[in-house]
Amino acid sequence: MKIAFIGLGNMGGGMAANLVKAGHEVSAFDLSPEALARAKENGCAVFGTVQEAVTGVDAVVSMLPNGAIVDTVYGADVIGQAPQGALFLDCSTIDVDTARKVTTAAEAAGYAMVDAPVSGGIAAANGGTLTFMVGGTDDAFVRAEPILAAMGKAVIYAGTSGAGQAAKICNNMLLGASMIATCETFRLAEKLGLDLQTFYDISSKASGQNWSMTSYCPVPGVGPQSPADNGYQGGFAAALMLKDLKLAMEAADSVDAEVPMGEKAASLYEAFAQNGSGGMDFSAIIKTL
Ligand code: NAD
Repeated sequence: MKIAFIGLGNMGGGMAANLVKAGHEVSAFDLSPEALARAKENGCAVFGTVQEAVTGVDAVVSMLPNGAIVDTVYGADVIGQAPQGALFLDCSTIDVDTARKVTTAAEAAGYAMVDAPVSGGIAAANGGTLTFMVGGTDDAFVRAEPILAAMGKAVIYAGTSGAGQAAKICNNMLLGASMIATCETFRLAEKLGLDLQTFYDISSKASGQNWSMTSYCPVPGVGPQSPADNGYQGGFAAALMLKDLKLAMEAADSVDAEVPMGEKAASLYEAFAQNGSGGMDFSAIIKTL
């Protein structure tokens, strides 16, 4: 297929390269010359504008920083420029309302669109092992699935338009809150005189077990290799966790949902990022407890 890829940063760069490896013809656009140079090395054709990149394509994939940018890029440069009937796949993490608004505008102009945010970081984007959670019509999902499968290990249908974004922010709200709960628990265990490896061995087989503990332990030297073993570098930046928690808080407000643990996690990550630690892995929040 001919696929335009817009936003080839940390995540999009590797994703576009995997589309090329799967045999697609990829036309790339990014505001950053460095991102475009990397895209060219990875076999993409590079263009100076979005309009040129989307001309004549079967599908458009985007991996952009936020909802306002997604709205502008599709509204100004993709809708009306891409060929009629083309499929749009926005893989960025954005708010549910913007995802629905852009899809409605695309559908009104004769296109199909899915929101398909990802779970997995830069390594998964490069390795083609992302998990996609997809919102859209059944028909759009059927068309999107093989394109997404070339960039990931799992493609899961979440429901109608916006459902992919809803699943993503609900999952990440749970992750943010459970990471902090795991961190404070290790600190308490330590103060109570428990050996942390012993506590891990017990809790990882008891009812406190959770992903933040057993797959991504925030304590160096305990559990499998994680960013804690690498000075909290790499992994999933605290600033991105804060972004997702803010989206979750906005979404909760919009439907009048009570999310006290999510709110607390958002305020702790906000303070952590304001102290200049937004670039560290999100498990580094243990240092503040
Ligand atoms: P990034 O900042 O590295 O990449 C974004 C790219 O978009 C940049 O190259 C930037 O130049 C480009 N861009 C910005 N405005 C543009 C425009 N108007 N037109 C064209 N290109 C434009 O960010 P990232 O880490 O790749 O994240 C992208 C998305 O993926 C975000 O929505 C993020 O929340 C989500 N995400 C990131 C991770 C992660 O671990 N980095 C994990 C899951 C989801």
